[in-house]
Amino acid sequence: SCSVGLESRPDAINFTHRSPLLVSRLFQPSNLREGKDAGLEIRSGEMTCKSQKLMLQGGLIHPSSPGCYYYLPATVRAMEKLVRLIDQEMHAIGGQKLDMPSLCSAELWRRSERWNLMGKELFRLQDRHGAEYCLGPTHEEAVTDLLASQGTLSYKQLPLLLYQVTRKFRDEPKPRFGLLRGREFYMKDMYSFDTSEEAAHRTYQAVCQAYDQLFLRLGLPCVKVQADTGNIGGKLSHEFQLPADIGEDTLMICGNCGFSANTETIEPGRTDCPQCHGGVLTESKGIEVGHTFYLGTKYSSIFNATYYNAQNKPMVAEMGCFGLGVTRILAAAIELLSSEDAIRWPGLLAPYQVCILPPKKGSKVGDLGSLAEDLYYSLVKLLPSLKEEMVLDDRTQLTIGKRLKDASRLGYPYVIVVGQCVMEEPPRFEVHCQKNGETLFLSKEGLLDLL
Ligand code: ATP
Ligand code: MG
Ligand code: MG
Ligand code: MG
Repeated sequence: SCSVGLESRPDAINFTHRSPLLVSRLFQPSNLREGKDAGLEIRSGEMTCKSQKLMLQGGLIHPSSPGCYYYLPATVRAMEKLVRLIDQEMHAIGGQKLDMPSLCSAELWRRSERWNLMGKELFRLQDRHGAEYCLGPTHEEAVTDLLASQGTLSYKQLPLLLYQVTRKFRDEPKPRFGLLRGREFYMKDMYSFDTSEEAAHRTYQAVCQAYDQLFLRLGLPCVKVQADTGNIGGKLSHEFQLPADIGEDTLMICGNCGFSANTETIEPGRTDCPQCHGGVLTESKGIEVGHTFYLGTKYSSIFNATYYNAQNKPMVAEMGCFGLGVTRILAAAIELLSSEDAIRWPGLLAPYQVCILPPKKGSKVGDLGSLAEDLYYSLVKLLPSLKEEMVLDDRTQLTIGKRLKDASRLGYPYVIVVGQCVMEEPPRFEVHCQKNGETLFLSKEGLLDLL
């Protein structure tokens, strides 16, 4: 049924490059049909939002149980890209990646007194011997115990920044809005160990700057606001918020001095700025995508995470912890950038960068299918990094218009149509650039320059 697949090329076996990724073969069980089927999977009565609808309809996620989703292949691709960016930013400030168990012993959580404090949000379970565990919602206890198990460190080993990107489990009272508030979700959590409060503050600033840098690269307008320390505890805390009406946090921002805070920390209803006293606070809604805490010695003193200072005296380490909601960032980006019916990704996160559209089967322009495939192979040859980033929409039983519409809904940054203009001399390709909405007619060389 497919005119451009491997099977249409008798010499395919000699190809050194893999065959193109075909749209007909992608596992992207989309629900893009208009009408009564659209949004079929959104349970009736369930609260929903734009990103949740788009992700369900676009074949990006599939519901499992409340707050739990299958992350389908396109989502996993976007998430892997996001994790790579996060890794780059964390490595740049000296972060080292590890991976801690999700099964966390109740004993550790009792020592920090959070076993009871966490209440129903903690998923608790027992092993066959009756030993109690929770499914890790965060890892302050675990990482501090890990450090303490190494005995007393030397001050020369600090600062130490350890982070992981793992699933977190929280029995949220109201899981909703798709990946924005799940009961099982991915978080990047980093924990820092320093020799002094001053050093811990320097680390804190470095992580905040790394977060700013990440959101800048993603092109997302993140606001850093003063925040409550909640049940994580500690003395100083900021949230990284993306402005959105469906956001569940209320922010107060001063138009005069830029002071900004989550209303959880300031007197509710206050309209005069507590910082400059002249400015007026305006209220807006935000999605919390990151949270930084200076913890002091709250956990290190309980678990005995210590180091020898230059005078060889044992000291308790100063700590910070730094969360980023990985899956929440994906959904929040879609929420912010998309229209009601077309997904838009930050350029660096789009699951695939390019979609090539051969003409409809049996159309006047003849057998351009092979031209589309040739284009694919020459792009791969000249730009090897594109190999994993291109798909070929081989559903040639559908018109170009229909497939263009699908491509627009799924948000490929570039869609290349192999249509009438390839018959011209020199041949040209029709390129739809999603970023600025432009349609360009380019030669193969022009296309290479663009990509
Ligand atoms: P919220 O106020 O939205 O419940 P939180 O303050 O409880 O979040 P933190 O403990 O600060 O969350 O966790 C760090 C980050 O993990 C958050 O900033 C957020 O981006 C992400 N996160 C927290 N809870 C969820 C969730 N249920 N689903 C997806 N991401 C989450
Ligand atoms: Mg919470
Ligand atoms: Mg919060
Ligand atoms: Mg928080």
